[in-house]
Amino acid sequence: MADGHDGPKEACGVFGVRDPRQPAAHLTYLGLFALQHRGQESAGIAAGDGTKIMVDKDMGLVSTIFDEHRLRALPGGLAIGHTRYATTGASAWHNAQPVARHAGDLFFALGHNGNLVNTTELAGASDLDADLGSDSDVIAALVARAVTGGADLIGAITDVLPRLRGAYSLVFMDEDRLIGARDPNGFRPLFLGRTDTGGWVLASETPALDVVGAEVIREIDPGELVVIDDEGVHSSQFAPPQRKALCSFEFVYIARPDGKLGGIGVHAARRRMGAALARQAPVDADMVMPIPDSSVPGAQGYAAESGIEYGDGLIKNRYIGRTFIAPTQQLRDNAVRIKFNAIEDNVAGKRLVVVEDSIVRATTLRSTMKLLRNAGAAEIHLRVLSAPYRWSCFYGLDTSDRSKLVAATMTIEQIRDHLGADSLAYLDLDNMLTAITPEPGGFCTACMTGDYPVPIPGLE
Ligand code: SF4
Repeated sequence: MADGHDGPKEACGVFGVRDPRQPAAHLTYLGLFALQHRGQESAGIAAGDGTKIMVDKDMGLVSTIFDEHRLRALPGGLAIGHTRYATTGASAWHNAQPVARHAGDLFFALGHNGNLVNTTELAGASDLDADLGSDSDVIAALVARAVTGGADLIGAITDVLPRLRGAYSLVFMDEDRLIGARDPNGFRPLFLGRTDTGGWVLASETPALDVVGAEVIREIDPGELVVIDDEGVHSSQFAPPQRKALCSFEFVYIARPDGKLGGIGVHAARRRMGAALARQAPVDADMVMPIPDSSVPGAQGYAAESGIEYGDGLIKNRYIGRTFIAPTQQLRDNAVRIKFNAIEDNVAGKRLVVVEDSIVRATTLRSTMKLLRNAGAAEIHLRVLSAPYRWSCFYGLDTSDRSKLVAATMTIEQIRDHLGADSLAYLDLDNMLTAITPEPGGFCTACMTGDYPVPIPGLE
């Protein structure tokens, strides 16, 4: 979670429910609330009562957009929802999701988590409107065109999905059906759950199923399409699975720690990363502390493995949304103080191991290091739970400008100096992956290795 630093902003969160016995928009609100960490720019819900689909979306957090009044205007037992951080397309209302489209008599809506790498090619080849705002709009436009050309919605989706390249976990709905699909590499997660009233739920992460009282049934497979109607769940493969490439950064910091991915508990994986880091990069110190909150399990793991006391050196203000972009260094330092403050009594005179999940742009982290120094830290040994983030992500995180990635432009020693740490160590990639699971393979590591599971057009 990008709460402690200026890491990559999260991907997006998708949710869908079909439960004729429950108010689906209300369940979707709860699900989106549980997925808020995946995107804080905009959120939306599309809901259907069997005769019509209503869509409500806006800029801002789920809790500020929706209230009882707005949710009651979204009746019915079928809904999809989306929380967004802009990865393609500007951060603007018209790019908020779900995207809704008319195609002849059909009205459908979709929510997308991930990022396509062939959007321009798709739009050009199909001669689509150049004003389409995002890759998700392009998917909707292609599906609508196939429907207008005579296909039914499922036929249209099955026709369009194999032409998409990149990352997509999708939820669709028409007036009667909930539909889910996951790209053939499985970059982004997507889960299927069942409510105790016999309904079905799709969600990016398992805590969003927990919060609506749904049991986790399974993950949607890479290349799988599920159609949920009165008869239940109908599954098919729209494309054969490709090289499995679940985003390893889901484990580093995107996913909630109380969830599971691929059967692996995220909190436990982060603890193992911390323990591996303690073995790989030990240091004499008085206290191990996290940059809260996403680095907490990793710091716990480091402390337990090293035998060094675990403590809190920073307090996070829980009511902060996004850090604004401050024009001067002094304002940036102040902005960090809104988010964090040092606990002087815990820090002064101590040799600290400061555990951070990742370093992407490093600007906020630099200010945070200064906070600790000003609070009297005697030594700061920065330990990072992932390998250096050196390459852009084109699969759903907003790091496409490589020149902004500190590890792409500086050596480790230069980064240490830039951050004002006494020592700096990153977890080796092999150790990081083994800490997630001893089973080899199955993850995307492109931002750390430059090995892109799906080639990026135009990238040498
Ligand atoms: Fe995740 Fe990095 Fe791959 Fe992007 S490039 S999907 S952040 S592992």
